Amino acid sequence: MNKVTVTFNDGKQKSFDQGVTLLEIVKETYPGTYPQILAAVVDNQAMDLSTTIERDVTLRFLTSNDPEGLQIFWHSASHIMAQAVKVFYPEALLGIGPAISNGFYYDFSLEESLNENDFSKIEAKIKEIVNENQPFVRRVLSKDKALALFKERKERFKLELIQDIPDEEVSVYENGNFVDLCRGPHVPSTGYIKHFKLLSVAGAYWRGDERNPVMQRIYGVAFPEEKALEEHLRRLEEAKKRDHRRLARELDLFSFHPEGPGFPFWHPNGMVIYNAITEYVGAVLAKHGYQEIKTPIILNVELWHRSGHWDNYKENMYFTTIDNDSYAIKPMNCPGGLLVYKSRPHSYRDLPLKLSEMGLVHRHEKSGVLHGLFRVRQFTQDDAHVFCTTEQMEDEIIKLINLINEIYHTFGYEHFQIELSTRPAKSIGTDEMWEKAEEALIHALERKGVSYQTNPREGAFYGPKIDYHIQDSLGRMWQCGTIQVDFSMPERFNLEYIGSDGEKHRPVMIHRAILGSVERFIGILIEHVGGAFPLWLAPTQCIILPISEKHHKYAEEVFKIIAEEGIRVVVDDRSEKVGYKIREAEAKKIPYMCIVGDKEKNNQTVSVRKRKEGDIGEIYLKKFIEKIQDEIKRRVIY
Ligand SMILES: [Zn+2]
Ligand SMILES: [Zn+2]
Repeated sequence: MNKVTVTFNDGKQKSFDQGVTLLEIVKETYPGTYPQILAAVVDNQAMDLSTTIERDVTLRFLTSNDPEGLQIFWHSASHIMAQAVKVFYPEALLGIGPAISNGFYYDFSLEESLNENDFSKIEAKIKEIVNENQPFVRRVLSKDKALALFKERKERFKLELIQDIPDEEVSVYENGNFVDLCRGPHVPSTGYIKHFKLLSVAGAYWRGDERNPVMQRIYGVAFPEEKALEEHLRRLEEAKKRDHRRLARELDLFSFHPEGPGFPFWHPNGMVIYNAITEYVGAVLAKHGYQEIKTPIILNVELWHRSGHWDNYKENMYFTTIDNDSYAIKPMNCPGGLLVYKSRPHSYRDLPLKLSEMGLVHRHEKSGVLHGLFRVRQFTQDDAHVFCTTEQMEDEIIKLINLINEIYHTFGYEHFQIELSTRPAKSIGTDEMWEKAEEALIHALERKGVSYQTNPREGAFYGPKIDYHIQDSLGRMWQCGTIQVDFSMPERFNLEYIGSDGEKHRPVMIHRAILGSVERFIGILIEHVGGAFPLWLAPTQCIILPISEKHHKYAEEVFKIIAEEGIRVVVDDRSEKVGYKIREAEAKKIPYMCIVGDKEKNNQTVSVRKRKEGDIGEIYLKKFIEKIQDEIKRRVIY
């Protein structure tokens, strides 16, 4: 019998009979009790454990501790949930059932409306299916066969999906009497998915398009261990309390209106945070040698043809007409930056040239996916383009990695994940350009010694990229920063610089954003801190609470002195009890309260209460101002 060599991700190699299944490899690798392995990554592609190995491969096992493993686990759970729903509602038509960042959902088209009271019977049925430990069986069918199969089952949404698949063959997964169109992979059997919880049901347009029918989307989550499920549910409860849309109402930060769906309206309190963040980022960039520009929001269509956005990004763009000519509202700032570069000749001495722009962009999102500040149609990108020579490229990427670290730490994000995305199917530029660009990113990451995950074929259409995912205080990951290397745009726009040899050369362009969307970054930050902003960002930094009416005059004096120092301070001189005022200031999450009465007036002091810490005692007014100024300057996190 022929042998195949399997190289494991720890570098160890082992030989097996050709045609061995991944499950057999698992059993041989972990004799006796083995960790719950759900699937495996074979040569960079996730596969079912029933897959047979016919040639030499590299192999990495996936458990629910791997993000990819957990996605497979959750997606498998979505099949089981759909199967259980179909038991009670055989007439329910299946939409899609993907894993999402914190669980899974399945969409159903059903006349009867489902609600949370239906969950317990569905969960009980799920338990039965899990106990039966039905194997998930993958079958590959011709498109015609698949169409016939789902036609017989009257699943018209599945027919629509099959018709849109460009391949000749499609795969389906069967367990028990349930069958679903699915790329896979899946866990080996239903018994793997022990602890289930259905969470909510909501309306969602089929394929996110408001012209399509509304489906009923059931959200759920599952874990192999009960403890993990409990911890997850506890975090969900906490996340609900911290929902940035809810906190925005309570703290009066921003709002949305039907007159502009997906376009945020910033209120005065929100603007304070917004400006404090952009001013801070601007100051850091200036220190790092950036120069700020501002380019127009509306630019003619010809430019977007030249940049490739027309061919690759048109569906997400808005258009308008001026004097009978077609214009587009910019979805990205790059072409504007390119025109600024081209506005004068450059020498190698100008490079690297770092042009930053807080650029207002508009991108079309389907109305069904809009979500507070997380998914909007208008936002400001903290964008920059670094124009440099090929030789400078790697060092510039390293500088960007350092810069991103510096800024994230200021906001208290200590943990982040880095992902490298390579050339997508829809892209511009030559193979050689892509190779060079991907290599530069990989070298820079390796020189910095940071670990990263690779996402094949998920780069931008003009170049590969590194994405940053920050972890918030609830353990959730959010994609924010990005570094993208681009050889194509300089080519398309014919960018040049004169080298030390006196000849014309082509610069490289590095696109980068650190916060990503300022709006979304603020949304994430609101939930990260639960609305309790650090002093430097707090809309009101200090509130003065006179004990009674006769202390109003002293409160006013204190207010003037503090306000003169540029500190955001207010006085609460309503005739309420001071205890009531303290509770209200706490609800507004104001970092410092200064209580003033006879004693404070005589001593020229304030009695200070600090958010979370409570009473910190009587302090000379001058000392108090120094203390908070120092805290603001150092951007202390608490
Ligand atoms: Zn599936
Ligand atoms: Zn760009």
